[in-house]
Amino acid sequence: MCGIVAYVGNREAAPLIIKGLKRLEYRGYDSAGVALLNGDGLKVYKKKGKVVDLENELSGKNLSAKIGIGHTRWATHGEPNDVNAHPHYSQNGRYAIIHNGIIENYASIKQILKNHGYDFKSQTDTEVLVNFIEYIQNTRKSSIEEAVRLALHEIVGAYAIVIIDRENPRQLIAARKGSPLVIGVGEDEYFFASDATPIIEYTKEVIYLDDLEIAIVKDGELTVKNLQNQEIDPDIQTVELELEAIEKGGFDHFMLKEIFEQPRSIADCLRGRLNTDDVLIQLGGLRDYLDKLAKADRIVVVACGTSWHAGLVAEYIFEELARINVEVEYASEFRYRNPIIREGDFVIAISQSGETADTLAAIELAKSKGATIIGVCNVVGSQTKRYHHRRFIP
Ligand code: GLU
Repeated sequence: MCGIVAYVGNREAAPLIIKGLKRLEYRGYDSAGVALLNGDGLKVYKKKGKVVDLENELSGKNLSAKIGIGHTRWATHGEPNDVNAHPHYSQNGRYAIIHNGIIENYASIKQILKNHGYDFKSQTDTEVLVNFIEYIQNTRKSSIEEAVRLALHEIVGAYAIVIIDRENPRQLIAARKGSPLVIGVGEDEYFFASDATPIIEYTKEVIYLDDLEIAIVKDGELTVKNLQNQEIDPDIQTVELELEAIEKGGFDHFMLKEIFEQPRSIADCLRGRLNTDDVLIQLGGLRDYLDKLAKADRIVVVACGTSWHAGLVAEYIFEELARINVEVEYASEFRYRNPIIREGDFVIAISQSGETADTLAAIELAKSKGATIIGVCNVVGSQTKRYHHRRFIP
């Protein structure tokens, strides 16, 4: 799940956005970026890696701005790198967008835009959306707000978006469908975020934007509309919860929250990897290995702790669906005995951090015995992931 933080008001936007992005780090991400609008124009800074990597990138820059948008990306379309990170400019540089979700019909819209002379710098579905909005605005000679509304009518997929406009230094436009977006309402200032945690330090008054609603903040005024262009009276709620309680999502314990979040986590994980037309799941890293995997004699899962439990679940599912023999081993046991591993075996190494020492050692051992290794982990850039890409999935 990516994170969105945006601000317009009288405070310095950059530190507020960076702090907010850090609050959303728990959601997981692979890159981070901000767009700031000041006397120097609309500037985008983005970086693969952690929010601190973005902070390093920002050092020494003129960050003074009262309006900005920020994002932590969880890649669905295009690998995690600096170019694919958000925000994305529109072609004429007037707009920049941050987006959480997927635009399912981005490929056909991209083709239409290419036919009209648009070039794309990134592989993302998001860059298609911002250019589509720009294209509509140019061809219809409409306001940006109207262009967003018309564009969203054509979009299939899920989105929470915030758009900043170089020509309107006191305006942000946001919309959502399927992905969360909260608006914080302060004194002459507005905040946008994926959840309330980046906001409540500044204001307790929030609006939970509904699906298919557009919020426009312009010159200190907030208007909420539906996609039919009808104005909606937004329901401003007072958040009574403290930061820690919000982070726990109303549950007593983080573990309980995580347990209840599992269906959503699985859906998020498959987002952009599920081809609904022919009900296929596409995992880019496995593409070159599918034949080999289908012919595997045996799959050995190595992991520790919770990852090991995940392996036990995988064992049931793989054996049931693929009829391939699956063994699940504690990495710490596996590495210290002399396990039978043959060429043709697949070893799936699971590690949430990607840095679990026993699991890394088990990978080395299995590799030395000629197995093909698949790494499953939560952290892009971790050792398991790098190992996986560098040595096994060229
Ligand atoms: N689909 C977009 C991308 O791949 C947004 C992903 C996200 O929600 O972070 O850039």
